[in-house]
Amino acid sequence: MSGAGDVKPRVVHTVDRLADELERLSHQLHDHPELAYKEAQAHAWLTDFLAKHGATVERGVGGLPTAFRATIPGTGSGPTIAIMAEYDALPGIGHACGHNVIATAGVGAGAALAAALGTLPFAGRVQVIGTPAEEGGAGKVKLLEAGVFEGVDAAMMIHGRCGTQVWRPTLGIVKVKAEFFGQAAHASSWPWRGVNALNAVISLFNALDAMRQQIHPDARMHGVITKGGEQANIIPEYTSAEFYLRATTVPYCHELLRRFTGAAEGAAAATGCRVQVTADPTIHEPMRANATLAGVFRANLDYIDFPEDPDDGQAGYGSTDCGNVSQRLPTIHPYIRISPDGVPGHSREFAQWARSPLARAGMVAGAKALALTALDLLAAPETLARARQDFARGGSAA
Ligand SMILES: [Zn+2]
Ligand SMILES: [Zn+2]
Repeated sequence: MSGAGDVKPRVVHTVDRLADELERLSHQLHDHPELAYKEAQAHAWLTDFLAKHGATVERGVGGLPTAFRATIPGTGSGPTIAIMAEYDALPGIGHACGHNVIATAGVGAGAALAAALGTLPFAGRVQVIGTPAEEGGAGKVKLLEAGVFEGVDAAMMIHGRCGTQVWRPTLGIVKVKAEFFGQAAHASSWPWRGVNALNAVISLFNALDAMRQQIHPDARMHGVITKGGEQANIIPEYTSAEFYLRATTVPYCHELLRRFTGAAEGAAAATGCRVQVTADPTIHEPMRANATLAGVFRANLDYIDFPEDPDDGQAGYGSTDCGNVSQRLPTIHPYIRISPDGVPGHSREFAQWARSPLARAGMVAGAKALALTALDLLAAPETLARARQDFARGGSAA
C-alpha cells in the first residue's frame, strides 16, 4: 500500500477551494450562537454541507438530536478515524470559545476528503462526529455512553486558541451545586426571626477563598450564585450556587469535593441553614496525551507550513469533554491559533477574533492538518499500532 503522500496535495487544494464556503459557514454559526443541545441550525447547516460534498450523513446519532456522524469510506474493512466537531456557544457571550472554527475545520476536513477522493484509497474510513454541548453539557460523554465511539480507533479535533500548540494538558472537573435553606422574614421589622440563606452562600465563597491557599496551584474552584434571594426586604430563605472543581487528576477533583462539602456544611452551621450538596455524576476527565498522534499532526502542520508556537506559559489550563474520549481511545486535541497572543478564551475579545481573518487561516490549517493526519493513519497501520501502545501506556506528551 502506498503512503498518503500521493493524495495529500489534492486534499490540501480541495480545502483551499472550499475555504470561502467554509468561512461563510463559520460566520453563519458565529452570527447565530446556539447553546448546549439546542444547536439545531448548526446541526442542519453542518450536515447539509457534508452531504453536499459527498459524505454519507447520519443525523441525530447516539440519541442526541443535534449530534451527527458523516462517513467517508475507504476501500474496505479497516480502521476508523474520527474527526470531532463542536458547535455550541456560551450563554451571553456567543462564540467566545470559537466552536464555529472547530465545527468548520472538522466538517471542512471531512468534506475535502470526500470531494477530493470520493472513496479514500486505503482500507478503513474517516468519520466526522458532530458532538453537541461541550460547554457544560458533556455531549461527548453521552455519545461515548451511547456507543457512538465504538469501533473508532483514533479520534482528533482542533480547538482555537491564542497560539498553535499540539499538546496542552486539560483539567478534570467535578461539577457541584450547593443549596441553602433558611427562613424568610421581614428584613426590617422581624430580621431576628429569619434564617439568612444568602449569608450561608457568601460564607461558602469566603471559605473556598481561604481554602485556595492550601490546594495545589493548578487546581481551580470557581462558582456563581444562581439564586441569591428574591427582594431586599425579605431575608432570603433559599439560595443556590454552582461550582466547578478542577484538577489535573480525577482523584484530586474528588479530594476537592470532599473539602468543598465540609466548607458548605460549615457555612450552613454558621448561619443556621440547612445545606444540600449535589455533585453532577458526569465527571470531565483530563486529556490523556498521545505522542504518536501528536507527532503525525505536527508533521502535517509542517507540511502545510503552519508552524507550532512555543507555549508562552501565560495561561492556565481549561477542560474539555474530549478528555473523556482520550481516556477511552487514542485521541488528540491540538490548539490552533485564531487570535493574537494573550487573548483569553471565553472573553468578548476572543469572540471577535473567532470571526476574523486569523480565524479563517486557523480553520483552513486545522481542516488540512486533520484530513492529512487521518490519511496518514489509514495509510500506515503501524502508526496506528504505535498510537495504541502510547494509549495503553497511559499517554505521555513527548
Ligand atoms: Zn469553552
Ligand atoms: Zn471550547
